This record gives sequence, structure tokens and C-alpha cells, in this order.
Amino acid sequence: MIRAVGLSKRYGSVDALRDFSLDVHPGEIVALVGPNGAGKTTALKLLVGLLAPTAGSVSLGGYDVQRNPVEAKRLLAFLPDQPFLYEALTVGECLGFIGGMYGLAPEVLQQRANALLQTFGLMERLNDRVGELSYGMKSRLALIMSLLHEPHAFLLDEPFFGLDPQTLRLVKRLLMECAARGMAIFLSTHQLPIVEDVAHRIVILHQGRSLAVGTWEELRRLYGGTRLEEVFFRLTSSGP
Ligand code: ATP
Repeated sequence: MIRAVGLSKRYGSVDALRDFSLDVHPGEIVALVGPNGAGKTTALKLLVGLLAPTAGSVSLGGYDVQRNPVEAKRLLAFLPDQPFLYEALTVGECLGFIGGMYGLAPEVLQQRANALLQTFGLMERLNDRVGELSYGMKSRLALIMSLLHEPHAFLLDEPFFGLDPQTLRLVKRLLMECAARGMAIFLSTHQLPIVEDVAHRIVILHQGRSLAVGTWEELRRLYGGTRLEEVFFRLTSSGP
């Protein structure tokens, strides 16, 4: 569903990402981990077509994100680390706006929005302005907005930051349920224990290079250690 081939990005003299290749299959959660500045956000922005690569290509469901951006973007949802939300709109207006953008029929929009609002405990905030929501509530709203059009590929940059334990558990469960229904999920995070819980495969990125890719079991067997943190430090120890 998500395919990167030989993806590279250079900013001036900085090689932010070098020769990055990966397939994320339907039903799979792949986590991208790496130190600050490793190139995670760059990789995600390249995968969703927000950045043009210096070399290499990306396809989503077979559509090249640079050559067929509309078809590719119809299939995906991207949740950035700092999602832009329309603070002056109410929660209901935001959902209506997103539903309209994706051409959802009003009854489909209402049914999906209601189910997601219930799941994320935001139903009673439907008529409140987004600017009045707490950080965690805004994060939950951004997730709802991402899922309204039922994407086939879901890419998330640091989705677990700042969430309370209940919301964290909810988001983890939601991602696992989405994958079980066939969604391809690719996320970046610094929360290594969560990665152990939810990821089918893990990519360790360091200085723009993919150093290891595999299941947690495979990485543990290859590099030793009982926690992902140990493997992470072993592979990225040239950092600060
Ligand atoms: P963090 O964990 O701190 O969010 P990251 O792994 O997401 O880091 P990136 O944001 O992808 O890392 O940055 C990778 C490298 O590219 C860094 O050296 C960064 O300074 C550089 N970089 C990122 N964006 C730009 C830009 N717009 N212009 C120039 N250099 C950039």
C-alpha cells in the first residue's frame, strides 16, 4: 500500500534522508524510530507528497505521489506532529468541512462522525469552538478528522505525544483495529515501549539512514537486549 524506493532528501548540504526503501502492507503497523534529526519527519513528508524527493519515488496504492497526487492523496491520511486546526470553527463545523472536502454524503459523514466522536469522548463538545479545547482534545479531534474518509494508508508523526494514559490506550487500540481492518499504518515516535506493543515491524533511522528493519523479535534476535531501548542505543550510539 505504501512503497518508498530509494528515497533521498537533501537540504543544502544536509542529507536528511538517504536511499530509504520500504513497503508497508495492508494490515501492517510499521513504526519509524530514531534520534532527533534522524530524518523521520522528512521521511513522512516525502511519503505523503508534502516534500519532493531529491531522488527516489513513493507510491500509495500504486499511485505515484508526485505524478498522481490527487489519486494517491485520496487514499491516505496524514497526521502531522502539530496538526493545523481551524480554531474559530466548532468541532461539528470542522468535521462538516472535512466531510465536504472528501465528498462524503451527509448521512455517511454523520454516521462516521458520531461513531468517532463517541469513541473519543468528544460528542458533548460538538458545538464548542476548537480553540477552546485542551491539547489532548485537539489531538483526539485531529485523529477523528483523519479517519473520516476511511483512508487505506494512515501516516502519523508523533501521535502519542501529550496524551493521557486513557487516550493513549484508546489510540493504541484504534490503530490496531484499523490495521486489523486492512489499513496500512506508518508512524514515527520516540515512545519505544509503545512501539514494542503496537508495531508489526520497526525501522530504526539514524542520520538519514535506515539501520535496521524488522519485527521486534527479529531485532531482539539480531542485536540482543530485552527492550527496544537497548537495541536503539546500540545502533544509534554515535548520537549526542
Ligand atoms: P525530531 O525527532 O527532532 O523531530 P526528525 O527525525 O523528524 O527529528 P527531521 O525533522 O526530518 O528529523 O530533520 C532531519 C534533518 O533535516 C535535520 O538535520 C534537520 O535540521 C534537517 N531539516 C529538516 N527540515 C529542514 C528544512 N526545511 N531546511 C533545512 N534543513 C531541514
